[in-house]
Amino acid sequence: MTIAAVRTHRLSAPLHTPFVTALRRTTTVDTLVVEVIDSDGRSGFGEAPQVWQVTGASIAGAEACVRDLLGPALTGRNADDLQARCAEVRRAVVGNESARAAVDVALHDLAARRLGVPLVRLLGGTSLRVPTDVTLAAGDAVDLAAAAKQRRAEGFTVLKLKVGTDARGDLDRVRAVRTAVGPDVRIRLDANQGWTPREAVRVIRGIEDAGLDVELVEQPVHRRDLDGLAWVSGRVDLPILADESVFDVRDLVEVIRRRAADRVNVKLAKCGGLHTARTLLDLAAAHGMGTIVGSMMESAVGVGAAASLVAAYGTTAVSDLDAAWWLAWSPVQGGIRYDDATVLLPDAPGLGISAVSEVNVQPRG
Ligand SMILES: [Mg+2]
Repeated sequence: MTIAAVRTHRLSAPLHTPFVTALRRTTTVDTLVVEVIDSDGRSGFGEAPQVWQVTGASIAGAEACVRDLLGPALTGRNADDLQARCAEVRRAVVGNESARAAVDVALHDLAARRLGVPLVRLLGGTSLRVPTDVTLAAGDAVDLAAAAKQRRAEGFTVLKLKVGTDARGDLDRVRAVRTAVGPDVRIRLDANQGWTPREAVRVIRGIEDAGLDVELVEQPVHRRDLDGLAWVSGRVDLPILADESVFDVRDLVEVIRRRAADRVNVKLAKCGGLHTARTLLDLAAAHGMGTIVGSMMESAVGVGAAASLVAAYGTTAVSDLDAAWWLAWSPVQGGIRYDDATVLLPDAPGLGISAVSEVNVQPRG
C-alpha cells in the first residue's frame, strides 16, 4: 500500500484561560496538522505546534518542510514499511523537529488505522487511561492560590506551577499554593529557564527549608547552561528535571555525562517523533533517570500521540499532558478527552481523529 498524498492543515483555537510561563504568554493554540493519506484513502494525522520561544518552530516553517521536502520524499513509497519511512524522515532534514514529529506520528497513526487498532496498541500497550498533571500559569501568589484551589476542585491532584518570572517572589508563590491545597496534592515547579544558577539554588533551598513538599523542579536555568544546571543539581536535594536542555539523544547523553539533571521531560515536538522519544525513555531508564512525557501547547492530535506513548511505555512520574485541556473548543473531531485528571484515549483506530477544522472555520455546536 503506497502513500498517495501528504497534506497540511493550519489550525487555531482559543484557550479558556491564558497560558503564561517565564518564556511567553499565549491565549491561543496555533498549530499545523499533517495528514498522510494512503492509496486506499485512509488518513493518518500528526501535529507540529508553533512554539517560537521554545523550539523556534513556526507553522510556516513546518508547512514548508512538509510541503517541499518530507511530503515529496514520502509520496509513492510503501506505507507499510513504517520503520523505514520514519528513518527516512529522521535523516531528511536537520532541525525542524516538530515537522518531523508531525510526519512520524501521522505515519504511525496511519499504520494503526490500517491495522484497525488504537495507536497505543501499535506501540505495544493496552491502557486507554493516562493520568496527567495540570499547569498553573505564572502569576502572583494570590492568583496562583485561587487557581490551585479551582484545579483541585476540578479533580487534579498534580499541579505544575510556572515560576521563574521573579525569583524573589517564587518562594511565596509556592507557599501560597501549598497553603491553598493542603498536603494531599503533589506540587511540581517549572521555571522555564527563568533563574540564574544562584537564584535557582537560593529559591530551591528556601522551598526545602520551608518543608513545602515539592516533587521536582523543571528547567531552572538557561537551556544551554549545562554547567549551571549541573551546579544547581549538585547543591539541592529536590530532583531537577531537564526540559528545554534536552531535545534529542545527543542532548540527553550530554546531560547524563555531566550529571546535570535527575530526570528528563520527553516531548515529540522537541525530539522529532515516537522513535526518538522511545530511545530517550530507554536511555534515561538505563541511567537511572526519572522520566515524564510532555507536550507543547497543542491539540488532541499531538497530545493523543504523547499520551499513547505514555500508555505503552510508561514514565516514572505523572506526565504533563494537559495542553488540549486548555482549549475552549477542539479544532479536531475525535481524539482524546479529559476525565478530571485522566487523559482518555479513544478506543478507535489510530488516534481516533476523524476530521480537522481549518483556521477560520468555526466549530459545529
Ligand atoms: Mg517545561
